[in-house]
Amino acid sequence: MELNNDIDQFDIPLAKRTYQNKPNSTLIKKLLIFSPFLFLIFSVAALRFIRNLELIPLNNLKVQVERNHDARILGHLPYNETPKEKLVLIEPNIEVHIDMRDSLLKMREEAKKDGIYLVFLSGYRSINLQNDIFYSLKSIRNQEAAERARVSAPPGYSEHSTGFAIDIGDATQRETDFETDFENTDAFRWLIKNAPKFHFKLSFNKDNKYIDYEPWHWRYEGSIEALKVFESSNRKL
Ligand SMILES: [Zn+2]
Repeated sequence: MELNNDIDQFDIPLAKRTYQNKPNSTLIKKLLIFSPFLFLIFSVAALRFIRNLELIPLNNLKVQVERNHDARILGHLPYNETPKEKLVLIEPNIEVHIDMRDSLLKMREEAKKDGIYLVFLSGYRSINLQNDIFYSLKSIRNQEAAERARVSAPPGYSEHSTGFAIDIGDATQRETDFETDFENTDAFRWLIKNAPKFHFKLSFNKDNKYIDYEPWHWRYEGSIEALKVFESSNRKL
């Protein structure tokens, strides 16, 4: 019986056996023929994948580097002093960039028509004047630079040096000049509603993490030159 069983196991017709083995050997042959190509395709795909992996963190790093090196000092961006020939005197002690004069004066006229009396407190300031303001007030108030920088820009870092910044008060509430309380005046409420029509924007709003809120400080963005000056500041980082 045992012998018969053994014979039965191997008693498979030759044709069938050949048929059963044929697909496997063909597959192996195909794999051998195509293996260099497959290897090549796999290598290219792997290299691309690795390159992508490297590029992602590198790009992130680039953004990070730009963030850390946007030339801010104590939260203030650097600004060049506007050349004298681009400045115009609009009233005693108030000089502004010629690009913004008409818009600024028109804004005051329009406010007056609504019964709002805007007063201009400070326009262009030279870097020398900013130097005096920053260092004298810092020492008078016994403040460290970082503390002072929250309320006043270091010299070379003030929007006022560009001629495109203006500090505005309410002529009927002068006690709020340069005070956060200016935000409760009719003048401020009017400005919030109407200043964009004249291309003025609040520079230091409540969201700024370095510089204190300055409701009186507005900047002009109504000319290409002004937009160029404030490009870095407007760029979202
Ligand atoms: Zn100001």
